Amino acid sequence: MTARQHDTVGELLARSHRLGADPRNTNYAGGNTSAKGLAADPVTGQDTELLWVKGSGGDLGTLTGEGLAALRLDRLRALKGVYPGVGREDEMVAAFDHCLHGKGGAAPSIDTAMHGLLDAPHVDHLHPDSGIALACAADGEKLTRDCFGDSVVWVPWRRPGFQLGLDIAAVKEDNPGAVGCVLGGHGITAWGDSSDECERNSLHIIGTAARFLAERGRPEPFGPVLEGFGPLPRQERRERAAALAPLIRGLASADRPQIGHFDDSGAVLDFLSREEHQRLAALGTSCPDHFLRTKVSPLVLDLPAAAPLEEAEARLRELHEEYREGYRAYYERHAGPDSPPMRGADPAVVLVPGVGMFSFGKDKQTARVAGEFYLNAINVMHGAEAVSSYSPIPESEKFRIEYWELEEAKLRRMPPPRPLATRVALVTGAASGIGRAIAHRLSAEGACVVVADRNTQSAEEVAAELGGPDKAVAAAVDVTSEEEIAAAFRAAALAFGGVDLVVNNAGISLSRPLLETSADDWDTQHRIMARGSFLASREGARVMKAQGLGGDIVYIASKNGVFAGPDNIAYGAAKADQAHQVRLLAAELGELGIRVNGVNPDGVVRGSGIFAGGWGAQRAAVYGVPEEKLGEFYAQRTLLKREVLPEHVANAVFALTGGDLSHTTGLHIPVDAGVPAAFLR
Ligand code: NAD
Repeated sequence: MTARQHDTVGELLARSHRLGADPRNTNYAGGNTSAKGLAADPVTGQDTELLWVKGSGGDLGTLTGEGLAALRLDRLRALKGVYPGVGREDEMVAAFDHCLHGKGGAAPSIDTAMHGLLDAPHVDHLHPDSGIALACAADGEKLTRDCFGDSVVWVPWRRPGFQLGLDIAAVKEDNPGAVGCVLGGHGITAWGDSSDECERNSLHIIGTAARFLAERGRPEPFGPVLEGFGPLPRQERRERAAALAPLIRGLASADRPQIGHFDDSGAVLDFLSREEHQRLAALGTSCPDHFLRTKVSPLVLDLPAAAPLEEAEARLRELHEEYREGYRAYYERHAGPDSPPMRGADPAVVLVPGVGMFSFGKDKQTARVAGEFYLNAINVMHGAEAVSSYSPIPESEKFRIEYWELEEAKLRRMPPPRPLATRVALVTGAASGIGRAIAHRLSAEGACVVVADRNTQSAEEVAAELGGPDKAVAAAVDVTSEEEIAAAFRAAALAFGGVDLVVNNAGISLSRPLLETSADDWDTQHRIMARGSFLASREGARVMKAQGLGGDIVYIASKNGVFAGPDNIAYGAAKADQAHQVRLLAAELGELGIRVNGVNPDGVVRGSGIFAGGWGAQRAAVYGVPEEKLGEFYAQRTLLKREVLPEHVANAVFALTGGDLSHTTGLHIPVDAGVPAAFLR
């Protein structure tokens, strides 16, 4: 990269980061920025004009050089000569590839035309709530004039594409004094001679629109508070949300399983408490970015916040049926012979007055972003209703975008989902040893993980190792406590919508001869392993039943549940109890599609807190080997002469839950490198 090029790209990235850092400027992954400049053509050595523009995918706030597409401006402008007209404008997206300069970088997005055809060195296209509020107001054109005079021009709604680029270019040419435009139903575009000027113009439009809405807007644009629809007190609200979440997730997953996200922020609760919320929600979102993630409209529960839980659940089921019928009708109203097949009729956003918003997606980030976009939509409706009436783009246009061949192609390019994508796993004792390895493996295979352990600090560390809240959360839980187990499952419901996979792994180990085993020793072992896993299985089954999506329960039992050796009465008996829970629950839960299986590890020394905490020293003394050689010693006792590591146990958990053993329940898999005395029969 030459120094000149470096400056232009550096400025563009810095501007994008500043704009993308403030959610008032644009929604997540929404909008794009560009800069034009000279660079030497490596073939001719001549200066050539290039456009660097944010490419498809990614977010402005974290844009890198790799996220930019670099295109030759002479070629991009020459596309006007071959443009076949608006009816075939989609063909131009493929043509952008023929304008690329050199290798690497991101694929040019549909908005490349807007940036390339506009005669301005720097261009920002953004989706600010304030700008979209004007863009979606019934009299948006007049309001834009009232707000900005001639300095910002109205461009009527047009689907993103080559023609929109030509429209905006023409608007700039006809209005030399203008610094940008409001794109009806969509967002804003601003330009400038320098990067700083472009940024100033963007911020001017966003800030001026926000002030205009605040100063001109009427109070309470969503109407007065509806009796009984106000927010429940926080704790009650959260409990209710956790109680409803598994059912709602199950409903939202009728066509394909989804991960959930919950939001009970003030703006959501205020919207849902107001008289107009039903009418506005039915109008749906407007900005293409918004409704691609939120679906055309949300499902709204039409009951007061304090309605009995069973009544709310029954009504949600009914509304879900109605939603699906409505969505099918929408598809049939607009689908043409060439439209892609219907993608699923379940809602992506479910609103429960007094409680909050549940949003869904193929992973946690997608679910969270769907919720964030609905929040953007609430802000947009608020602004538009404050100064006018909210008037999103027509339904037929929404359909054209939702089922646009270019969107479909984007979906087809997505990598296939990992085997445990859309599944939520709760692993007890996941802060250490085997549990930690299981949490890592399940997460690597696509599951969202709840790291449940009484060691809160280590549980948080493991959740952070897994990638933080979009991948894993920690739940502080002593598995012997009924209330704490219930709270851990509530935390899972609020974090990811529910639970599909429970791993009963928490355990401790005492090795004592019968005559030295106290009643407390016995109780402790049984409380943690027998009672603890019973409690977690019961709560897990409750959630799985409400979801109606089947599920898995896996017990990390032990060779010692089968093998009878000395000095092991409390531990071995508790492990045998767990082993029989596997069979009992496999028999009972099969009709719900819940499979229950176990893993019998042996001699997992490395990484195990049990071994580090005294058991290892003690076993080493019994066998007369140095403690650090205990793993090797155990290995030599096995048929395969291999040391068993936590990862090997995690592999077995994945084998049981990853899909290949879908017809297996009530099974125990030994992971002991071969111990004939513990063979199952
Ligand atoms: P570990 O000590 O490394 O991990 C156990 C985890 O369970 C710890 O994080 C601990 O904080 C947690 N825990 C203990 N009591 C708890 C409670 N009441 N509530 C919540 N969390 C609790 O041990 P590990 O070796 O990884 O063992 C994991 C499981 O595997 C245990 O059930 C153990 O019996 C079983 N197992 C281990 C071996 C082995 O050789 N290490 C062999 C067979 C079975």
